[in-house]
Order: sequence, then C-alpha cells, then structure tokens
Amino acid sequence: MPGEVFHSDEMALNVLTPGEVKLSDGRSVEFANLDVAATAPCLDVVAEAVAELLPWYGSVHRGAGALAERCSREFDEARETVAEFLGCGERDTVVFTRNTTDALNLLAHALPAGTTVVTFDVEHHANLLPWRDAVRLGVPRSPEAAVAALHAVLPTISGPVLVAVTAASNVTGELWPVAALADVAHLHGARIAVDIAQLAPHARVDMAALGADYVAMSGHKMYAPFGAGVLAGRADWLDAAEPYLAGGGATANVSERFDVRWHTGPARHEAGTPNLLGAVALAAACRTLANVRHDEEQALLARLRAAIATLPHVEELRLFDAAAPRVGIVSFAVLGAEPGELGAALGREHGIGVRVGLFCAHPLTRRLVREAAARLDPAAPPPGAAIRASFGIGTSERHVDRLIDFLGGSSW
Ligand code: PMP
Repeated sequence: MPGEVFHSDEMALNVLTPGEVKLSDGRSVEFANLDVAATAPCLDVVAEAVAELLPWYGSVHRGAGALAERCSREFDEARETVAEFLGCGERDTVVFTRNTTDALNLLAHALPAGTTVVTFDVEHHANLLPWRDAVRLGVPRSPEAAVAALHAVLPTISGPVLVAVTAASNVTGELWPVAALADVAHLHGARIAVDIAQLAPHARVDMAALGADYVAMSGHKMYAPFGAGVLAGRADWLDAAEPYLAGGGATANVSERFDVRWHTGPARHEAGTPNLLGAVALAAACRTLANVRHDEEQALLARLRAAIATLPHVEELRLFDAAAPRVGIVSFAVLGAEPGELGAALGREHGIGVRVGLFCAHPLTRRLVREAAARLDPAAPPPGAAIRASFGIGTSERHVDRLIDFLGGSSW
C-alpha cells in the first residue's frame, strides 16, 4: 500500500493515531499528520515496550529486589542499545537528557574553559542560543561553501574549538555536509557536535562514519514520546566538567564535612531519579529505526515538491540548490494569505496538521521566507511566516494529496 513504511524484513511499521477527527462542518476525516518533524507519533512497538515494563516499574540503581533489579538492568541495556544505534566508540559515553535542547545545553555547560564555538547562522535555537559568543559563519548557500567557510576560519582560532552544526535542517529538511565539516574540524584539531534531531528519525546515523564527536537527539522526534533525549560523544570533556545537575546518583561519596566526590561517566550528569520509561522507549525506537527503509518518504517528498513547483502562489524554502538531498520536510511561503489562517483552516476544515511559524529558527526562516516570496513576485509583500509539512512513519500518499488539493484549490 502506498505510504506504508517497512522494516528491512518487510514488516510494516505502525504508529498510534487518533484515526478520524471532526471537522468544523461536522464531517469526520482521517487525521493527516503532516507535522511529524515537530514531534512524531508513538510507534506501536515503543508503546508495547513501555506497557510491558510498567508492572515492573521500580527504582534504578537505588534499590534491591525484583523490580529494582529489572529496572536497573533495562536502564543499562537502553543505554547500550542507543550507543549501538549511534555507532558510539570506546571513548564515547551516552547521557540521557530530556531532549535535544537539554543535550546541547549540557554540552555547552561541559566545554573546557576557553573553548571557542564555531557555528553557522542557520541553526535551530537549541543549537544557537546555548553557545554564547560563538564565532558565526553566516549563511552558506551550498554545502561546499559551508565547508570552505569552516576551512578559512579554523586556522585563525587558538585553544579548544567546538564546531556545532545541524545534520538536517528543521526548516528545509536539507542535509548538511557533516562528514566533510568533521574532516575539516579534525584537520585543525577541533571537535564537532552534530544536532541529529531531524536526521536520526529519517536515516541511519553512524557517529564514526559522520566523524561526529558529539550528537544530540530527542526521543519524541523518534516515535518515542516519553520525555527522553540523548547527548552521546567523547567522555573526557564530560567527565572533567562540573555535574550538570547536582544531587543523588551523581555522587560517589559525600563526606561528613560535605566534601563531594562525583562519579564520572553518564551518572555524573544524570543526578536524580532517571526517566526509565523514556530511556526504554527510546531504545525500542532505536532498535526499530535501525532497520527502516525510507524510500517511501522520499517518494512523498518528491510528490509534494513537484506539486508545489507548479503553483504560482506557493514557493518552497531552501538554502541550497533545489537538487540538494533532504529528509521529509517541505516548508513553503504562500502569497496572498495569512499563514496562521491557512494553518487554522487546514486543521479545522480539512483535518490536516502542519506547523506554521518560524520553526524555532527565526533568523533563517525569516530570510528564506523573504527569498521564496521574492522568487514568486519581487513586488509582493512577503508573508510573516512559513508553513511546514513534514512526513515520517504513518504518512500516506492520501495525506499528502489532501494538502496538495488544498494548496491548489481556490477554497481559501
Ligand atoms: N534541533 C532541531 C534541528 C530541531 O528540529 C529541534 C526541534 N524542533 C530541536 C533541535 C530541539 O528539539 P527539542 O525541542 O526536542 O529539544
């Protein structure tokens, strides 16, 4: 069936959905979730893994007895599964966080004194705002220009350097040349942190192949919406940093005089009772996503982009050439309509969920909306925001065609 996503052993994957939703005119339609990049629905295998553990729910690394034993083991195994999914090496560690934002803030907190962060002006706020006083390399218009800009700047910086980049843009879906940027970073003795929030749900991530020293991701974007995320990467900076959270679990010993000896390893930054269900859910998602084929998503992407290209009042947002590879995300500017009203009409009158706004990447999205509007009509006032359609497991051709019909129709 078109739109189905398969495991490599040809098993169809399913997500939990509400099925039909009521429209403003009283009709009911199948909900078309085209906002998977914001937060993905729950995979049924993830929900099952959580449900199976719930009767056994107990403490992690704190108690004795059957529940504590099982929960401690499952938490440790979840960490190992995530490490395997990400292709972590011997010198890496996996820290469970709340989400990508939390993971990147943890890394920012753990940087050695005097570290210079180098980044581009295109990042999601989660990979922009934690880096105070970063060296910013502007807005490159091709992957090659990004690599050249990094090549030019790194020899001018001394001391420890962290390059912080995204793997796939949440605004355009475009893939960044992470492996080439990593080569340049390493050539100059720098490290590279990669925001894989939008890549990991859509493609196999292998830290070694990417050359990533650190990666950050969110469980809720990987069909595991139970509040866990991950920072994975080289342990030395993390082991040397002050704990991200001070409290129980991070401490090896607290003396009578309150001198504290902190753990090294992931426990150092995971004080407090951990999010066991989040970690187990994320591990279940990793086991499944490791074997997913994404060809159907690429077909849907091509279908929507081709339709948009024929519409005189709609233009997609892009940073690079139109042929640049991307994950299942298409943001677009619409001339002559208020974006918020369009989004509301899509939801209430058509049962289609999209994202409307500047997508937590305000500088980049504003620029790309202006450019897209000018390509359609240089004299027309650009809209104040974009609309984003994003796909994943559970998206069908029917859903995409309903959006295409709406955009091409005259009902608005
Ligand atoms: N980076 C990218 C590329 C994202 O798309 C997002 C979520 N929109 C984030 C970081 C932040 O993720 P979270 O909200 O889960 O922390």
